[in-house]
Amino acid sequence: MNAQSNHPITDTTDPQFLGPEAGQQAEGQAGGGQAHELGDMRTILQAALTQPGVMNQAYRAFHNYSIGNQMLAALQLFGKGLPLAPIASFNAWREKGRFVKKGEKAISLFMPISVKRRADKDAPAESVEAGEGGTFSMFMLRPNWFSLNQTEGDEFTAESITPAWDAVTAMAALDIIEEPFEHLQGNHLGYARARSIGLNPMNPLKHKTRIHEMAHVVLGHTAIAEMHDDEILTRQIEEAEAEGVAYLLCALLDLPGQAESRFYIQGWLQGAALPEKSAKRIFGAADRIMKAGQPVQH
Ligand SMILES: [Zn+2]
Repeated sequence: MNAQSNHPITDTTDPQFLGPEAGQQAEGQAGGGQAHELGDMRTILQAALTQPGVMNQAYRAFHNYSIGNQMLAALQLFGKGLPLAPIASFNAWREKGRFVKKGEKAISLFMPISVKRRADKDAPAESVEAGEGGTFSMFMLRPNWFSLNQTEGDEFTAESITPAWDAVTAMAALDIIEEPFEHLQGNHLGYARARSIGLNPMNPLKHKTRIHEMAHVVLGHTAIAEMHDDEILTRQIEEAEAEGVAYLLCALLDLPGQAESRFYIQGWLQGAALPEKSAKRIFGAADRIMKAGQPVQH
């Protein structure tokens, strides 16, 4: 475990991560429309990587949902041949004077389900949030949502939301400090240690590296004391996780550097080396960093 993460400038352009059957696997994984397949966060990540632009569109339509659910909703609507449009539960549509058309099937999203804690077994850490009174919430796929196009009734116009994120707000909310860049040995785009990050002033994609380094902090890569897993993540998985977060937010915010990110991460997915747990961690950290940087609403 490295207490600090430095990046050779070649990190994002190393071709050794690309496998020979890359294209085939990508198509096979992204093309599925089954709920159980969609519930696999690696499949959702693969879709985000292979369908650039969807993240940004999905945010505009489903900004009230987690980033994973935004992608889940988008993929299912595409699977039904429907455009990206607001989604709501049966009852929420009814309150708006709209009714689900006959024969329309709901789309499934992850929602927290409250479960009683079993004394004999701990639930997996990445899927739970501790609650009160011996219960915890677990994220389960539930078919509760319908798109505007699956309903009829009163006129409904959704407000269009443009994704916005402020780095200063996000850094402050997450208790991350930017320190003056320290020239370490070799060429580095940036680094993270404890709750500080440093960004090379010569870095052409500074915004992307900022998110990457913030992800290292949020994911606990820089705080050995916070690591409680019995397995120690390898440096390469940590880099794939941090870059995965950087990609998701660059894609969501439509910032440059997406191709560079994809090149680096896709190799990981096609080599089937990225654990499902890592895919979940990537979406979780992307959500936290995105939410932390929301401009103050007036
Ligand atoms: Zn890194």
